[in-house]
This record gives sequence, structure tokens and C-alpha cells, in this order.
Amino acid sequence: MQQLAKEPEVIESSGHAPSRGVRPLNERARRIERRVTLITVLIPYVGLAGGILLFWNRGVNLLDLAVFAVMYAVTVLGIGMGFHRLIAHRSYQAVPFLKTTLIVMGSMAAQGPVIFWTAIHRRHHSYSDREGDPHSPHLYGSGVGAVLRGLWHSHMGWLFNHELTDWGTYVRDLLQDRKIFKLNRLYFVWIGLGLVLPAAAEGAITRSWLGVGRGFLWGGLIRVLIVHHSTWSINSICHVFGSRPYQLKDRSTNNAILAIPTFGESWHNNHHAFPSSAVHGLEWWQVDITGSTIRLLEKVGLVSAVKIAKKKQQAEFQEKPA
Ligand SMILES: [Zn+2]
Ligand SMILES: [Zn+2]
Repeated sequence: MQQLAKEPEVIESSGHAPSRGVRPLNERARRIERRVTLITVLIPYVGLAGGILLFWNRGVNLLDLAVFAVMYAVTVLGIGMGFHRLIAHRSYQAVPFLKTTLIVMGSMAAQGPVIFWTAIHRRHHSYSDREGDPHSPHLYGSGVGAVLRGLWHSHMGWLFNHELTDWGTYVRDLLQDRKIFKLNRLYFVWIGLGLVLPAAAEGAITRSWLGVGRGFLWGGLIRVLIVHHSTWSINSICHVFGSRPYQLKDRSTNNAILAIPTFGESWHNNHHAFPSSAVHGLEWWQVDITGSTIRLLEKVGLVSAVKIAKKKQQAEFQEKPA
């Protein structure tokens, strides 16, 4: 376990105009991005429609739910424990096999390749709720309409209309890592794996093609859809609704209701206060499945250099806000 160090990758904005690391996308790049995003965001809805039809005719069985739950846990951990706490914030270290596995697991969530995801997330920390934040809900002014527009933008609207995040500024460390670069390039392979695995598992267990289809739907497409909204709720709900024990310049919140589905990522005000802490649930009652998993893996030697915000640091922070 380590004392928290200052976050190395967060770059302070020099003023309200974000120039560092943020560039407008040219029209061609914007079109391509929109198409890829539309496909990865909309296809899971086709799966949902298929799932509803299937449910109507044959219902959902326990195996469907089990396949869904396993794949949900795998990909939510891949995003939270892998992309977010390990790669974006370097809040702990993992043995190479585990690191690779977590990146593959996170890629199966279809939220963009690991380098893209990390660049966007580090920019979010650099400009939290200010101009330059790729997905702040607070940049549309005040009033109900502005709040609703902000919630839409922060939840998923930004995916279709965002600036270019300069990789040289935000993810130079990852660009120098050949293994991560290779895993990043194989992004669509990992998405495919995330669809094939549950299909193969349910097909093998039931020894039927219907099982293959059900596994593909529940563990594949519908799971991608639910994990998308689970992760995106951190960007939208956890910057609007909830408590703010740490008075920060941004509007991040702790949201207890989302703690279970997000595996602890919704202690987001804690996270913005201590971005380098591998554990986000800082109070004993703040359930943080991802943080607990990291601690458990530390005990068996798969994880090391785990940074956790100390009680003293938390108290100091609350006495003297940022
Ligand atoms: Zn945030
Ligand atoms: Zn973060």
C-alpha cells in the first residue's frame, strides 16, 4: 500500500479557453467517428429488441441471467479496474498477465479502445466541468432545459460530437508501451470476443443453437447496452445528483444508489478529490466492489503499489478544500 502521490498526468488549464490537448476534429474524421459510434451504440438496441421478442415467446431462464451477470461483471471490472484505475490513473500495478486481461475485458465493453478511453478520461480530470471537459453536464447554462441538455450531452451526446483529444498531451506513456498499443489496435477483435464467448458458453452448456443465440443476446448485445449506460451514468448522474463531501471546483458527486451497478465507481466525488486512490469507497459503508477486488488481488500478490487515500489526507482535504 502506498501514500498517494500527486497525479502525474493531470494537466492544469491555464485559463478558461482550453487549448492544450484539445483540437477540433476535421469533418472527415468527425463523420467516421460518428459512424463507428452509431454502430457500437445502436447495435446493442437491436439485441435488446431481440431479447424482448425472445422473452415474450420463451421467457428468460436462469442460465441467460447467469451469462449476463458474468459478462457484466467481467466488463464492468475491465473498465473500472482496468481502463480507469490501472491505466488512466496508475493507482496500482498489476502483473503483466492481469494487466493484459483487464485491458481485453475493458475493450469488450465497446466504449472505445483503451488509449482513446484514457485520453478522454484524463482530459475530463484536467478540465472537470469547465470548457475543455469532453463530457461535462454543466456547460449549457442554468434552467431545466439546460440541465436536461447537459445530462444528455454528458451521458452519450458527447460521443457524437467531441473535439480531438491530443494523445501526445494525455497518453504519451501509453504510446510508448508497445503491448498496450497492440491491444489498442485489436479493439474490434476484443469486442467480437465479448460477443462470441457468452454465445459459445451458453451454446455449450445447452448443446443447442438456441443457446448460442441466447448467450449472444444476453451476455453479448444486451450486456454491452447495460454496461454502456452504467459507465455513462458516472459522467452524467455523478456530476449532477448526489452528495459532495469534498468541496471541489468541479461538480462531481457521490451517488450511493449507483455504487452496486457501477462496482464502486459512483463514489465519484471521492475520486475527483483523490484521483490516484485505487479505492474510491473511502468510508467503511461505501461499497466499492472494484476497490475490494484490487485489495484482494494485492493479498495474493497479483497486484502491488496500491495507492489509497489515508484518513489523515481526507481530513486535511475537508478542512482545506481545493
Ligand atoms: Zn468526473
Ligand atoms: Zn478518473
